[in-house]
Amino acid sequence: MRRLIERGLALASDTQVVEVGRGRLARSGEILARTVLAQGSPALVVADERTFAAAGAAVTAALAQAGQTLAEPLIFPGQPALYAAREQAETIRQRLASQAAVGVAVGSGTINDLVKLASGQLERPYAVVGTAASMDGYTGFGAPISQNGVKLTLPCPAPAVVIFDLDVAAQAPAAMVASGFGDLSAKIPGGADWILADAAGVEPIDPTAWELVQSGVDRALSQPQALAAGRPDAYQELVSGLILSGLAMQVYRGTRPASGAEHYFSHLWELSHLGQDLDPPLSHGFKVAIGSLAMCAFYERFLARRPGSHDLTAALAAWPDWSAVEADIRRRFHGALADNAVRQTRDKYVDRAGLRQRLERLISDWDEIQERLRAQLWPARQLQDALRAAGAPTDPAQIGLSVEAVRQTFPQAMYYRSRYTVLDVARELGWFDQLTDEVLAPGGLWT
Ligand SMILES: [Zn+2]
Repeated sequence: MRRLIERGLALASDTQVVEVGRGRLARSGEILARTVLAQGSPALVVADERTFAAAGAAVTAALAQAGQTLAEPLIFPGQPALYAAREQAETIRQRLASQAAVGVAVGSGTINDLVKLASGQLERPYAVVGTAASMDGYTGFGAPISQNGVKLTLPCPAPAVVIFDLDVAAQAPAAMVASGFGDLSAKIPGGADWILADAAGVEPIDPTAWELVQSGVDRALSQPQALAAGRPDAYQELVSGLILSGLAMQVYRGTRPASGAEHYFSHLWELSHLGQDLDPPLSHGFKVAIGSLAMCAFYERFLARRPGSHDLTAALAAWPDWSAVEADIRRRFHGALADNAVRQTRDKYVDRAGLRQRLERLISDWDEIQERLRAQLWPARQLQDALRAAGAPTDPAQIGLSVEAVRQTFPQAMYYRSRYTVLDVARELGWFDQLTDEVLAPGGLWT
């Protein structure tokens, strides 16, 4: 894993140093002093009450011991949970600007996103000291921020330095590592989606980004019980896997290496504010866990079939023209989301000639494609067992959703982004509704 991280760092645009291991907190002052703080700027530690207690105080002490100048730490309340809003980023930006400081985010998702955005606006590098293995956004660029009830991903560089102490990660609340486990499980169906997009000639696989994100996934997901039990050594692979996922996105300059259709389930549920009234709010990784299960189950049904010339004839005869597709999108979405889905789907829509080309290629290459997909995917039951052992949700009801709601999300996830996934392939083959029904039929994962 270390070799892969070094490889990712050599190619990544923003991140220069990644330190993962036990006892890293005590060394954080020295690490920061020779990297982001080497020019002599004061450090502004940004945390909330919980993450300051977990690691912020130790980072502050380590910085002082390393002889660094410290601005007064900026500590947000621990309760209710901080959310990523522009006002909060603005508070951080002002503090960084007035003190001419370099930000040291101590926390996980939200704290990192806020400091990332504020530092990006000032065009200053920053560092993050992770406190939980809860998601793969540590080394990602861009910050998802809420504004007027809509989620936007604002462009900003990834951190220059990432420090992760495994003893801290192991002591984080159990739900957080379960969330990170869920987020990393997305690389299984998400990778399969990339294989299909590659095979269809829509989006070729970048071998380097692929190797970074995929080579450690199976190992990182191999010891869910040890993670749930808080054994620090078990965290090495999971934390490395999450960090590699972000590095792969930096190398690829896009999110394809880390996400496929399973993430669109999560985004859509987030847009409908699912679980946002909980404290802490329903995590990204928990929604992704259910999305990943839905997609692994969909792939199982997909791979149980074999496309042939009869599918091609039927698909070409039934292929809707664009106006019918747009009407269907507008039935399933409203307002700005509908306009967005129309634009996104238009990007990947092909006419009958284009469809014939795509499907003929799929049919003739099927044996090879099927073999690649089988090597990539896990059986849905196996993933369900692993998620359960990690403490992640394995049933939509656990995140407040009915099976019917999941059914409605399938076509929305297909239309939501221009990214080409198995949902598009199934639609093009005329299999979409049947496969969805099969996934949710009695005897399946959730009935
Ligand atoms: Zn994710």
